[in-house]
Amino acid sequence: MIVDKVKILIQAGAGGDGAVSFHREKYVPKGGPDGGDGGRGGNIVFVADRNMRTLMDFRYKHKYVAGRGQNGQHRNMTGKNGEDLIIAVPEGTVIYDAKTGRVAADMRPGSKKIVLFGGRGGQGNARFSTPTRQVPRFSTPGRKTLPHEVVLELKSIADVGLAGFPNVGKSTLLAGVTAAKPKIENYHFTTLTPNLGVVHTGAYDFILADIPGLIEGAHTGAGLGHDFLRHIERTRMIIHVVDGSGCEGRNPLEDYEKIRRELSEYSEELAARPEIIALNKADIPGAEEWSKKFAQEYPDKEIFVISAATGQGVRELMNRAAAVLATLPPAEVIEEEGIVEEWAMDAEDLTFDIVRDEDGAFEVVGSAVDQICARINPNDSESMRHFQKLLIDFGIIAALRAQGAKDGDLVRMGIEEFDFVE
Ligand code: GDP
Ligand code: MG
Repeated sequence: MIVDKVKILIQAGAGGDGAVSFHREKYVPKGGPDGGDGGRGGNIVFVADRNMRTLMDFRYKHKYVAGRGQNGQHRNMTGKNGEDLIIAVPEGTVIYDAKTGRVAADMRPGSKKIVLFGGRGGQGNARFSTPTRQVPRFSTPGRKTLPHEVVLELKSIADVGLAGFPNVGKSTLLAGVTAAKPKIENYHFTTLTPNLGVVHTGAYDFILADIPGLIEGAHTGAGLGHDFLRHIERTRMIIHVVDGSGCEGRNPLEDYEKIRRELSEYSEELAARPEIIALNKADIPGAEEWSKKFAQEYPDKEIFVISAATGQGVRELMNRAAAVLATLPPAEVIEEEGIVEEWAMDAEDLTFDIVRDEDGAFEVVGSAVDQICARINPNDSESMRHFQKLLIDFGIIAALRAQGAKDGDLVRMGIEEFDFVE
């Protein structure tokens, strides 16, 4: 079964925590703070892999987490950065946020995109020593990351799609003009994954795709439905291959019209794209006659009589396709908006409590503490103003007051220490 749309969970690596450590040496009475910074968490990186054809691999593995940053070390050693997680996807994969639909990346040939950034590493206590604070007993934690659900959707990058009933010779044609090696079989059940190859015409090279059609899916009862047509959504023109020999008791005109109907049912826009009709199997008697009937029925269409098997007319068809493509706008490019990292603050699951420490200080504990502290930088006044606002918003100031905190009392919160100010 072809897999061309999957949902996976990705999560960048959390940042490593900053270290709290003091330099100690024999005979040196008082060492300074020397806790290093935490390492950055690993990024989630997607790369386009030209050898991949489907998203099959993602059916068996759903969660992808990049490496956590290492914690800071003593002697001012910064923790190692977490390892990036590199996820290979087929060319033409569009990656979007499952919740918001925002497109994070459109993977073109050669693309390499960071979709989620690893968490920043925390700062070690060495950073916090000031003339008035020579013994900072705190560091900041690494930035936590959240899992994101993203959809990977495969959209072919082909310029030209080969549409047509099964068994009309689409795969044979593709194999004849490109280096692609599609399966060629004489029964009405063919390609299950789209094959593509580059056609070199000298003047204009383009990507040609042999697309498994809607009728084929219905035929085999595979229930593939309209999913297949996604592969030609982005093609710029269509070569509609018809078995011009009319052998097997088929009526090429009827076949052609059936496929046309399926196309326009799926997308009017797609059906309106430029099209060339290729009456194939011209080596079998019958094709010339059908070509006259097609010309009569569709006087405005371009019709080529070819034989994919012998190569007759194939070059001319490809050259014509190249000439038409050269006049068309470039393939649709999907605008990338990036993934927004939401702020992990669903107030319901963030709680706190206030306890009294032995030395009389007030300590704020609970799940809210981590979330708040992960986002502040004590060396930055802007950040600290934000911190104060969070304390008020979360009701922490009010709770401290209710517990009897007065002006000048010491408050601890994670690695942060501050004076309560009314
Ligand atoms: P697809 O299902 O449209 O991809 O068709 P295939 O390329 O797999 O071809 C179906 C059958 O038709 C195979 O047996 C081919 O060898 C045969 N075929 C394809 N093109 C020609 C042609 O130009 N002439 C003749 N005589 N047979 C052809
Ligand atoms: Mg085929």
